[in-house]
Amino acid sequence: MGDIKRYYIETYGCEMNKSDSIDIALSFETHGYKRAEKVNDADVVILNTCAVRQNAEERVLGRLGYYRSFKERHNRNAVIVLAGCMAQERGRELSGLFPEIDVVSGTYHSMEIPGYVEECCGGEGPLIAVDRNVYRFSPYTGERAQGCRAWVNIIKGCSNYCSYCVVPYLRGPEKSKKSEGIITEIKDLVADGVVEVTLLGQNVNAYGKDINDITFIELLEKINEIDGIRWIRFLTSHPKDFNEEIVRRISSLEKVCKHFHLPVQSGSNRILNLMNRKYTLDLYRSIVEAIHKYTPRASITTDIIVGFPTENEDDYNQTLDMIREVRFDDAFTYIYSERPFEQARTMQAKVDKDTSKRRLQELITLQRGISCEKNRDEIGKRKSVLTQGRSKKEASELLCRTETGKMVVVNTKARAGEFIDVMITGISGNTLRGAEILYRTETGKFDNGDPGRLFSNKGMA
Ligand code: SAH
Ligand code: SF4
Repeated sequence: MGDIKRYYIETYGCEMNKSDSIDIALSFETHGYKRAEKVNDADVVILNTCAVRQNAEERVLGRLGYYRSFKERHNRNAVIVLAGCMAQERGRELSGLFPEIDVVSGTYHSMEIPGYVEECCGGEGPLIAVDRNVYRFSPYTGERAQGCRAWVNIIKGCSNYCSYCVVPYLRGPEKSKKSEGIITEIKDLVADGVVEVTLLGQNVNAYGKDINDITFIELLEKINEIDGIRWIRFLTSHPKDFNEEIVRRISSLEKVCKHFHLPVQSGSNRILNLMNRKYTLDLYRSIVEAIHKYTPRASITTDIIVGFPTENEDDYNQTLDMIREVRFDDAFTYIYSERPFEQARTMQAKVDKDTSKRRLQELITLQRGISCEKNRDEIGKRKSVLTQGRSKKEASELLCRTETGKMVVVNTKARAGEFIDVMITGISGNTLRGAEILYRTETGKFDNGDPGRLFSNKGMA
C-alpha cells in the first residue's frame, strides 16, 4: 500500500463509543494515516470496545482470536489496539491472554493512540495506558461532522452509580465541557454543513453542575439560537434530573426535536430503589404527563432491564403495566448482565436465565405491538424528514428520520442532508414508509450521507 500507513476501526457499543471513534480516526488522520477500506489493508487495527453487558465483551473476545490469525496470514507487523471500556476494565489481563494486542488504551486516551502505536513499535510487550488522570475533550470541532449530522459531547463520565452499571467505574465521574466551547464547536459544525446535532452524554441533563456553568436547558436555549442549525437532539436523559419545567421550556424551542429518550429501567419501585435510580415511578409519570401536556406530538423511548437480582413476577408485571400505561414509541430491552465492580453482583436471589429470557421475550412482544400501533397511527400524516443515506438493500430508497426520531424509507432522488416533506403511506417492521410530496424544501450539505464513513460500525451491544 506504499508509504502511507492505514488504520481500521471496529466500534462496539453506544453512541458515545461511536463518537470516540471519530476522535480516534481524526487523530490518526492528523498523524498522516489514511483510513483503510478493508481490514486486510490496515497497518493498525483499533477495537473500540464496550463493557456494559457481557455479550458485548464476548464479541470482542471472538474478534481478538481472529486478529491473532490475521497477523499470521495478512500482516505480521500490523499493530492491534484494544481501546475503550474493555481496555479500561481488563486491558492488562487481556493483553496477557491475547499476545497479539500491542497497545491497550483506556477511555481517557482515545486521542493519544497514534502516539502509542509509534511508541510501541519495536518495544517489548504491550504498551498499556489506562490511568485516568487527565480527561481531554475532543480538540476537533468542524471535522467531526458526519455528513449533515454530528455528535457533540457535552458531558463525559457518570456519577450516578446505578447498581447494575459499570460505566462510572470505567469512564470516571461527570465532567462537563464549558458552554462557550460547545457553542463554538456547533458553529464550526454549521460552517461545515451540519444541520442536525445530537448532544451526547451518559446523563446530559446533569450538564453544567460539576463546573458551575449554565444548566442543560439554558444550553439548549443558547444552541437553539445558532443560525444554520435545524434540529437539536440529546441523548441520554436521566429521569431524576428531568422535570416539568425542562419540558415546558423545551416545548418553546422550535429546533429541539420532540423526542425524549428517558430510560425507566423497571416498573417496580422496589427494583428502582435496588437499582439506585433515585426516582420513583410517580416522578417518572409526572415527566411523561408534562411531555403530553407541553409537547403532545413528542415520542418517548426508553431502556428496560429484566432479570435484575430479586426481580419477582410481581415486579416484572409492574414493568409490563408501565409499558402499557406509557405506551413507549420504542424500547431498548436487556437482560441484567453481571458486570465487574457494579453493586448488584453481590445481591442474592439472582433470576435464572430461562426466566429472564422468557420475561424479555414477552416484554419485546408487548412493546412491538405498541410500537406497531403507534406507527400505524402515523399513516396518512405529512412529515418533514431529514434524509440520511441510501438503503443498503435497495439503492432507490433513502433512509430518513422524522423529528421524533422515527425512521422513514422513501423512494426519492433527494440526496442525504436535505429536508423533504413526505406522506406516510405504510409500515414495514419497525420502519415507516413514505412518499415524497414536496421536492427539496431546504438543503443541507450534500455527501454520501453514511454516518459510518470514518470507521466500521459494529452496532449496538
Ligand atoms: N447513561 C445511559 C445509558 C447507559 S448504558 C442511561 O443511564 O440511560 C445503556 C443501557 O444499558 C442502560 O440504560 C441500561 O438499560 C442498560 N444496562 C446498563 N448496564 C447493564 C447491565 N449490567 N445489564 C443489562 N443492561 C444494562
Ligand atoms: Fe450507568 Fe446509571 Fe450512569 Fe446510565 S446513569 S451510565 S445506567 S450508572
